[in-house]
Amino acid sequence: MRKKIVAGNWKMNKNFQEAEDLLDEILELMEDEQTDNPQMILCTPFPYLELATDMMDECHPKIGAQNVSEYEDGAYTGEVSCSMLKSIDVEYCIIGHSERRKYFNESAESMTKKIDLLLDQGITPIYCCGEVLEEREANKQFEVVKAQIQECLFHLNADELQNLVIAYEPVWAIGTGKTASSDQAQEMHAFIRNLLNEKFGKAVADEITILYGGSCNAQNARELFANADVDGGLIGGASLKAEDFYKIYKSF
Ligand code: PEP
Repeated sequence: MRKKIVAGNWKMNKNFQEAEDLLDEILELMEDEQTDNPQMILCTPFPYLELATDMMDECHPKIGAQNVSEYEDGAYTGEVSCSMLKSIDVEYCIIGHSERRKYFNESAESMTKKIDLLLDQGITPIYCCGEVLEEREANKQFEVVKAQIQECLFHLNADELQNLVIAYEPVWAIGTGKTASSDQAQEMHAFIRNLLNEKFGKAVADEITILYGGSCNAQNARELFANADVDGGLIGGASLKAEDFYKIYKSF
């Protein structure tokens, strides 16, 4: 059965104490949730990952990183490797977030290496794609997203793809308060699923989780998640408040 997911992307927010408090509040809210479908995922900054995996041990939310090195190990000052993430039980990792593409010039080659290393370690990549406003205005959103999917995912085989999550995040909707309409989200998600169907077959395309991201909040999540091809959300701002994030999690 296709997995429903609500993943929080904390970005570069919270000090240690605030992070611990937020994790505590989420744990309390999630106490009686006995299912891993929908799955809650918390993608915290690197310094809080071990705290988070320790606190969530045996509990329902899973922990994810927001980035990882494209190198395996060695002399790469400041980098964090996939095997380091694995050694502290991190199960997911965001790859290709638009902020990393924009501010850190992430290339398709680098993202592809990261995805391959994560899959080798049994960590699930959450691969982000999405067009910027000018591309949407020029009606180029489909060719842009198609290219992003092809360049980083089409070298995988069907088994590998099954261990990956896609997040469609129109860049014009991220952190802007401007959400894609329910129809716009469904249209793009169906387009992505069809693309995967053509390359990997129906069974794989039907099973893959495709998240929507971009100003998703407790008010609009239910309408977005009601679409046939929207399997949940990647949530930025609204994941920083436990109550709001929990409400989004309960929006299926
Ligand atoms: C994100 O950063 O992935 C995101 C979707 O942010 P926001 O929810 O704040 O738009």
